Amino acid sequence: MTDLISMTIAEARNGLANKSFTSLELTDAHLAAIEAARALNAFVLETPDKARAMARAIDAKIAKGEGGPLAGIPLGIKDLFATKDVRTTACSKILGNFVPPYESTVTSQLWRDGAVMLGKLNNDEFAMGSSNETSCFGPVVNPWRREGSNTSLVPGGSSGGSASAVAALLCMGATATDTGGSIRQPAAFTATVGVKPTYGRCSRWGIVAFASSLDQAGPIARTVRDSAILMRSMAGHDPKDTTSVDRAVPDYEAAIGKSVKGMKIGIPKEYRLDGMPAEVEKLWTEGAAWLKAAGAELVDISLPHTKYALPAYYIVAPAEASSNLARYDGVRYGLRVPGRSIGEMYENTRAEGFGDEVRRRVMIGTYVLSAGYYDAYYLRAQKVRTLIKKDFEDCFAKGVNAILTPATPSAAFGVGEKGGADPVEMYLNDIFTVTVNMAGLPGIAVPAGKDAQGLPLGLQLIGRPFDEETLFSLGEVVEQAAGRFTPARWW
Ligand code: GLN
Repeated sequence: MTDLISMTIAEARNGLANKSFTSLELTDAHLAAIEAARALNAFVLETPDKARAMARAIDAKIAKGEGGPLAGIPLGIKDLFATKDVRTTACSKILGNFVPPYESTVTSQLWRDGAVMLGKLNNDEFAMGSSNETSCFGPVVNPWRREGSNTSLVPGGSSGGSASAVAALLCMGATATDTGGSIRQPAAFTATVGVKPTYGRCSRWGIVAFASSLDQAGPIARTVRDSAILMRSMAGHDPKDTTSVDRAVPDYEAAIGKSVKGMKIGIPKEYRLDGMPAEVEKLWTEGAAWLKAAGAELVDISLPHTKYALPAYYIVAPAEASSNLARYDGVRYGLRVPGRSIGEMYENTRAEGFGDEVRRRVMIGTYVLSAGYYDAYYLRAQKVRTLIKKDFEDCFAKGVNAILTPATPSAAFGVGEKGGADPVEMYLNDIFTVTVNMAGLPGIAVPAGKDAQGLPLGLQLIGRPFDEETLFSLGEVVEQAAGRFTPARWW
């Protein structure tokens, strides 16, 4: 069993093609691993019957030589993706037992290509958070622990279930979404690879909306190659999402192993924070040296508006969230808490259905959009956003191919350790990732080393719009130099 679950997608693809094992065997091995790992709380819904039915169907196709690029590969799906006839909750009480009558475009493309669904993965409620502690199903536990300690650590968020499940070998890859860092930060906390594609690269149709101008779906996988394989199936134009872009989807896997010689890699001085742990700083320098050794040229760059990214994000994202979440009114979906009038019913439903963090965002968002404050906050934040985007454009115009930064300011922290008294403490986790969403750019987080306590740390590469391929090429250089990291099993 261990052999079947510790393979990469690329290896499993070969094994399936060679008939070394069937998708049903592969799927059963993962279902058993999931059952044995309930302590991680990574899955909020296991769908073993569906998984086996999908595996059997794809095995029949493989036998006829009709596989598809993901034929027989078992995946986990973040509970933010609508899955037809399978409960989808965004990990919020307000969605209750909502069962969508439709499938998200991204997941339907995975099934089109032959993948198998193992179940739905935990996430922060409506993807709001950086630790997966705001989920109505409770926190996800990181399979990584500090050396010599049994303290439960967070896997990061909001795609904490995805990251934890992939790191713990419960699924070969997972879908995730990233509004301000929710793919890259949990990837960095669990030594997995996370890709946030260019805004518009993947369809948002059928994904529960958080902040529509920032949300983007992407994969979490165990290797750069696996993330490239998943990306090819997830990406693509969709007439049902007017912000999805009509551009051919490249063969991302072909970018793996391509020479990075002569590429210009920007090192932004504004990402060198006061009080940044020495280990993070060291890793960053090391990562730059690896890329240089592979023939890339390092250049110092400046992204002067970086310091405004987090404050501007915490205006734009809650504003859009308050508008998107207006639809949860007790009439259309899930939970309804009665009241004496329809107004009271709305109030009761929303008060009981939304958790603290979601309520905080709705209040902030409603405030910054209200008459009298709109210009001072929302409009201003949008202008700042344009400046942030221009910082990147100026660098790319000077020939910079990609930008190297740390993925997170620290390694994973303990469950309940952060953000209790001050939510901003939690928000600071995304300091290196939100700029990328604000500018609509692609970014990849790749495991690169460990801190003094043995916890994984990641590096981030930021690319030009729609140039995910360069990120895969560079990401693989980092992966080759750093090696791969697997948590010791304790669960
Ligand atoms: N942590 C950020 C937030 O809470 C980003 C979340 C995300 O990317 N979905 O808004």
